[in-house]
Amino acid sequence: MVVAPLSGVAIVSGGGRGIGAAVCVRLADRFRAIGVIDLDRGPAERVATDLRAAGRVAEVRAVDVTDVAAVQEAVDSLVTAMGGLDTVVAAAGNQVGAEMADMSVAVWSSVLDVHLTGSFAMVRASLPALRRSSSPSVVLVSSVAARGIVGHANYGAAKAGIMGLTRSLARELGPEGIRVNAVAPGFIDTRMTRDGAGHRGLSWEEFAGPAAAASALGRIGQPEEVASVVDFLASPDSSYMTGQIVYVTGGI
Ligand code: NAP
Repeated sequence: MVVAPLSGVAIVSGGGRGIGAAVCVRLADRFRAIGVIDLDRGPAERVATDLRAAGRVAEVRAVDVTDVAAVQEAVDSLVTAMGGLDTVVAAAGNQVGAEMADMSVAVWSSVLDVHLTGSFAMVRASLPALRRSSSPSVVLVSSVAARGIVGHANYGAAKAGIMGLTRSLARELGPEGIRVNAVAPGFIDTRMTRDGAGHRGLSWEEFAGPAAAASALGRIGQPEEVASVVDFLASPDSSYMTGQIVYVTGGI
């Protein structure tokens, strides 16, 4: 058995909570340094503190991923502080819904901006450093909602857009050896889904129960179960995979 040494640098947007936080923790098994980008500094700092306690380098930048210039500045400073960049995970996400007839342009745009422009901003800002990496990879976060979700057409459209972004970037960057893949989670227990229950006037059990019943495994997922797939897609174990959307849904 060969135990690989810790190496490499990763940056994770939305790393303060939920799936992004679980990705930070999981990647820290292999990476020596993790940059955590999030809207709120507090949760991101808590993740970074845990990573430092485990002996990793961890840096936080509190940034709104829709601010493309601020993302560029944050990624540049993280690359300088951590000495490079090998993997980028764009996990920042929001969900603000309405039936189409009532959906304002502001609500429509807020979701497209965070998911699509945020992913664009993260990848574009990271490209110069990824081009210097010997094992560069990008993992975006789509969703099973790309197949359609009532009352959240903006979210469904954004997550379908991330699939197109993933496949387009894979083709564009593949010749340089930069791999681009995405995970498409099903129903995962995070603040986003817990808030979703509240917005629908449902208890957590009323909201999560049908989602669990709809899956082949008969349960909802945990953030760590998405993080392990992200880790695989970021690792050399998936060295011949690019442009792929990997569903992590418990079998929906
Ligand atoms: P979450 O627990 O609410 O975490 C979302 C994270 O994104 C938070 O840390 C949040 O920061 C951050 N964020 C939101 N808007 C941001 C912005 N403009 N700039 C920077 N950071 C921002 O939700 P989650 O479920 O883990 O979601 C993570 C990703 O998985 C999202 O892309 C989501 O669409 C996707 N996903 C989730 C599920 C699910 O069932 N949970 C299923 C499929 C896909 P603050 O805490 O500071 O607001």
